Amino acid sequence: MTTIESGTLTGQNLHLSFGTNHVLRGIDLHVEQGTTASVIGPSGSGKSTLLRVLNRLIEPDEGDILLDGRSVLKDNPDELRRRIGMVFQQFNLFPHKTVLENVSLALRKLRRMSAGEAREKALAQLDLVGLRHKADVRPGNLSGGQQQRVAIARALAMDPEVMFFDEATSALDPELVKGVLALMADLATAGMTMVVVTHEMGFSRNVSDTVTFMDGGVVVESGPPAAIFDDAQTPRLRSFLSDVL
Ligand code: ADP
Ligand code: MG
Repeated sequence: MTTIESGTLTGQNLHLSFGTNHVLRGIDLHVEQGTTASVIGPSGSGKSTLLRVLNRLIEPDEGDILLDGRSVLKDNPDELRRRIGMVFQQFNLFPHKTVLENVSLALRKLRRMSAGEAREKALAQLDLVGLRHKADVRPGNLSGGQQQRVAIARALAMDPEVMFFDEATSALDPELVKGVLALMADLATAGMTMVVVTHEMGFSRNVSDTVTFMDGGVVVESGPPAAIFDDAQTPRLRSFLSDVL
């Protein structure tokens, strides 16, 4: 893998309500540069909302967000989003554009690269995810796993300091999950800073450096994988693990 920049990301006492629904109730999350934090927890516990607050797609009602120790709440949100790459459950590729165009579009529009430069960079990223040979096809002609790898290549092409994955493998057929998880594990090994919301307990245990268990908008337990998976301290975590493992 190529050299990847990284950043240390901290969320402090984050609160967010949607109307009367108090969804994030004082979340603390610290992701040291070059490490992978996985976030696990039941559906509706606020995991996706947390990612959206951390990259300021939604402004928190209270709390702070630090990147490399500096508050980014006063920064231009576009600047923060530029530094964080995001991969979703639904790949969000443009169906009528080729794979190459999907990866190179933002390089041209947001980074103002020339067509040639953007093409070279996009091809290099596609190479990294093993899909250079699919550059000229449309996403609909790829498997779900390949489409998700294109989405990852598109995010990486922007040289993010931190990558967010929100249930990136949840929409994939079981046989396609492994390839995407392997790519994510490669990124982690290469030193990318990552926040990974996932139902894949094997990935959480084996790849991530820290695991954060959320329930009801709070962090119930957080720690290294062994502490979370082998030494749960709360009935809530024990019950969640017995449901998913
Ligand atoms: P998770 O990702 O852990 O399943 P979410 O962050 O998606 O949880 O949702 C947490 C809570 O916030 C849920 O009660 C959900 O209904 C609510 N919620 C999420 N997004 C919105 C929104 N855009 N508007 C209103 N409520 C929302
Ligand atoms: Mg979610």
